[in-house]
Amino acid sequence: MDITHKVPSKVLTPTGGFLTGYTHTLNPYVGCSFACSFCYVRQMPVSLFRKAEWGTWVDVKQQAAEKLRKELRSAKKKGPVTIFMSSATDPYQPVEYREQVTRGLLEVLVEEPPAFLFVQTRSPLVVRDLDLLVRLRERVRVSITVETDLEEMRRQFTPAAPPLAARIKALAACRNAGLDVQAAVSPLLPCSGSFAQKLRGVVDRVVLDTYQMGDGSGGKRTQRLGIDKLYQQLGAEEWYTGEAFQRVHAQFLEAFADGTVFVSQEGFLPNRDECGGQAE
Ligand code: SF4
Repeated sequence: MDITHKVPSKVLTPTGGFLTGYTHTLNPYVGCSFACSFCYVRQMPVSLFRKAEWGTWVDVKQQAAEKLRKELRSAKKKGPVTIFMSSATDPYQPVEYREQVTRGLLEVLVEEPPAFLFVQTRSPLVVRDLDLLVRLRERVRVSITVETDLEEMRRQFTPAAPPLAARIKALAACRNAGLDVQAAVSPLLPCSGSFAQKLRGVVDRVVLDTYQMGDGSGGKRTQRLGIDKLYQQLGAEEWYTGEAFQRVHAQFLEAFADGTVFVSQEGFLPNRDECGGQAE
């Protein structure tokens, strides 16, 4: 892993509307060592212009907390600030154990609370920061990705990401701490018929997403990554279709309470109440 320390010019990035409902994205790192095979960031300039393979390098943002404090104060003068952390990296990837950039950013966000903060991760390390997250109360939602209930499938598609059991344990810990928590089945991978039942009781809210709905290009970016070939190798082609999604979606609708199963973008929107209705 090639880890470099860099001082960015800014840490808060205006979304320009590409992430509905959010004014800014916040990425503590550039690059991501989880290296998911389907990661759409592989097809974005940040990865394409880098000589090295996605997943083999991480840039650690230095002075991130100090910069965020200044940028946040200035952004809040213009209106409610809604932050998505993170859109192009995982804020709790392994380097965070040592560098604690994400934790530093959260300390600032507790001091200067935004209207809403969405934390998206695949890592149980998020539990380390429960002391800070609970101080943001209803202004934060923690969303932990659980793409499947089959560990073998997780190993095929995201071998460097944390095991599923650890993620489910983290979801339970966040929920027990009183946080607004969501399981993100994103992207939906081949799973068992009892996946929905297994998540029921761990979380009250779920979002399901597919490559076609969620990669920002109608599935074209994923197609360019050649992920369909992995499905062929696994003999799981039928899972690369919309029919698989419909079937699993129906199972989740049956297992969860009305209004708690979201599809694609709607599951990643800010909590409307916290943003005075201005976020959507
Ligand atoms: S955790 Fe997210 S950012 Fe990191 S490689 Fe996987 S999909 Fe990409």
